Amino acid sequence: MAIEQTLSIIKPNVVAKNIIGKIFNRFEKKGFKIISIKMLKLSHQQAECFYKQHISKPFFKDLINFMISGPIIISVLERENAVNFHRTLIGDTNPMKALKGTLRADYADNYTENGFHGSDSIESALFEINYFFKNNEIYSNKS
Ligand code: ADP
Ligand code: MG
Repeated sequence: MAIEQTLSIIKPNVVAKNIIGKIFNRFEKKGFKIISIKMLKLSHQQAECFYKQHISKPFFKDLINFMISGPIIISVLERENAVNFHRTLIGDTNPMKALKGTLRADYADNYTENGFHGSDSIESALFEINYFFKNNEIYSNKS
């Protein structure tokens, strides 16, 4: 299977729980290399643009207000099959449906404040990584 990169976000509610180290430990234990990382507070415009595919959804306004409510941790993770593997690790979007042992089952507060974002395809990973990182800020292990 191919080595891939994916974008991972620890959302404001989980950053506020003071467990960032625990989350990265879980990624590392599952074989992810953390190849870039930053903490930032999104502007309203940055959050709207990042989630623009959801602009017409009823939850959009709540989602944006939540995403700008505090700092987030954004990272680029690398391993085989990274995109799908990371989605599986964080669990279902709806925390009520997230399987036991997934990050959302453990740390989500509700549907909107579900704690984590993960790219959903190779194409969106590429877009999302470029949205937050310059090429020279990413330390890939790929030769
Ligand atoms: P995912 O983050 O799993 O890729 P989506 O892209 O469908 O899920 O949605 C983006 C984010 O919007 C979700 O992570 C969640 O925070 C929020 N969201 C999605 N669907 C709902 C919903 N039905 N009610 C409330 N918030 C939602
Ligand atoms: Mg999504």
